[in-house]
Amino acid sequence: MQAYKVGMKDFSGQRVMVFGGSRGIGAAIVTAFARAGAAVRFTYVASGSGAEALASRTGAVAVQSDAANRDGVIATIREAGPLNVLVYNAGIIVTGDPQSIDPRDIDRLIDVNIRAPYYAAVESARAMPEGGRIVVIGSVNGDRIPFPGATAYAMSKAALQGLARGLARDLGARRITVNVVQPGPTDTDMNPADTPLADMMRSVMAIKQYGTADDVASLVLYLAGPHAGGITGAMHTIDGGYGV
Ligand code: NDP
Repeated sequence: MQAYKVGMKDFSGQRVMVFGGSRGIGAAIVTAFARAGAAVRFTYVASGSGAEALASRTGAVAVQSDAANRDGVIATIREAGPLNVLVYNAGIIVTGDPQSIDPRDIDRLIDVNIRAPYYAAVESARAMPEGGRIVVIGSVNGDRIPFPGATAYAMSKAALQGLARGLARDLGARRITVNVVQPGPTDTDMNPADTPLADMMRSVMAIKQYGTADDVASLVLYLAGPHAGGITGAMHTIDGGYGV
């Protein structure tokens, strides 16, 4: 028998759902849970071929489900059956002068970044066994927004902090934990590390280096793992000191 080591992550027999798992941070989370033995389902909205490729690489199940559709989110969670771990990762950013952004774009951001994680978390909690884990991917921008032009995004990520605090209280009696992982600049399609904007981001970081999706995934697995049963209602920032 293999000796148990502190930090070892074995998710064999656990059912994990990652909302928004086809690319970037979500794909790294899907891959890490699948490698650790979990039965993983993940959603996507537009990246059908990327989702299929990830599914065949990892053995995870890909499900098309637009997070902007509340009833669709709830149905997707119900169809997954009881989950040990829910990770809500899907997110979009809309930037520009709030006085001129198309309000339809802001409404979609609110649907994907706030409404969907609320309904996904609440719906998953109905069937979640004792000791289950809910992790939502927020952003250091929920705490600090050093540049103009991202008001709605910052608002949406701050909202997740209230979701985690409130739900941690609601579900604590069942030992279900609810946490927010708050990345800083992380090299993905949303925020590539090789643009002039990235140079601006690095200028406010203590460690002037973009994070990786794998590092964020590792923190998510820690929070879902056996040593994190007492961590709940908390924000976990992984940002190279962007927020200090
Ligand atoms: P990407 O844009 O690279 O990937 C976004 C993922 O979310 C994709 O899998 C995408 O699916 C999915 N998604 C987007 N909209 C929907 C939707 N309506 N329904 C279902 N799935 C959807 O983003 P990142 O990996 O960079 O970001 C992941 C999370 O991390 C987000 O919540 C983001 O706000 C947060 N974050 C990212 C930072 C960064 O620097 N990268 C910093 C701080 C936080 P599809 O492929 O089908 O489009």
